[in-house]
Amino acid sequence: MKFRRLADAHCHADFSEYADFSGLAFGLDLCVDACFPGDWEGLKKFDAFPIKKAYGIHPDLRISEFEDIAFVESEIFGAFLPKLSEYIESADAVGETGLDRNLERRVPMYLQKRLFDAQLELAGKFGLPAIIHCAGEWGAVFDALKAWTEKYGTAAGERRDRKKTGRFLLHAAKCSREMVEIFESMGGYFSFGLRELGCARGAECARAASAGRVMVESDSESSKAKIEDTVSKLAEIRNVEADEMSETVFANFTEFYSK
Ligand SMILES: [Zn+2]
Repeated sequence: MKFRRLADAHCHADFSEYADFSGLAFGLDLCVDACFPGDWEGLKKFDAFPIKKAYGIHPDLRISEFEDIAFVESEIFGAFLPKLSEYIESADAVGETGLDRNLERRVPMYLQKRLFDAQLELAGKFGLPAIIHCAGEWGAVFDALKAWTEKYGTAAGERRDRKKTGRFLLHAAKCSREMVEIFESMGGYFSFGLRELGCARGAECARAASAGRVMVESDSESSKAKIEDTVSKLAEIRNVEADEMSETVFANFTEFYSK
């Protein structure tokens, strides 16, 4: 299957392998997420290249269960978040950030929430979209996004400085049909990888979302082949032609990440 245009809405790349950019997924547009402080500088080196860049702090934090949480918290808020603001100045999005119930044993929920709110606040301040990670915490993620979009969003009225503030992308989306409707009314987009499209909940979510709000993602190192397969699978689930699906996904990607 040959597509005219392709876009990967959410991927991660190991930049040490792409020192000259030669290997980095040609033939598609993409947004690369650097969501651990150690990855930020690597992504920054690609400022001159036509890729969308997202900086953030993933709720995983890459810490062990034996870590001193008070110390971790003071490091995050005293050192990493101020540093993140510097990277965000040249970013296209903030994230991925969010809440994950599976990580609670290592990263307490109050800390995940505090960090999530702080990054939403940064996104609002800089007029950038947010890329959201959610596992098992749809209610709490909804509460945070509701407060954020009420403060910064455009759904309720005028555009601040004509920036598209208050946009968010639920990556690896598999929320219920009802939640899809609510998130859409708040300015939400949804992106799906083969993993989500292969499970009943993810497929239901992919079917429920409006055409103007769907995207695809690799959530790993991107490749044209991977994204072609994902677009084809999404087209099958939504019962549309695959090339039409790729055009829709590309248009949504462009709309979402354009400043
Ligand atoms: Zn990811």
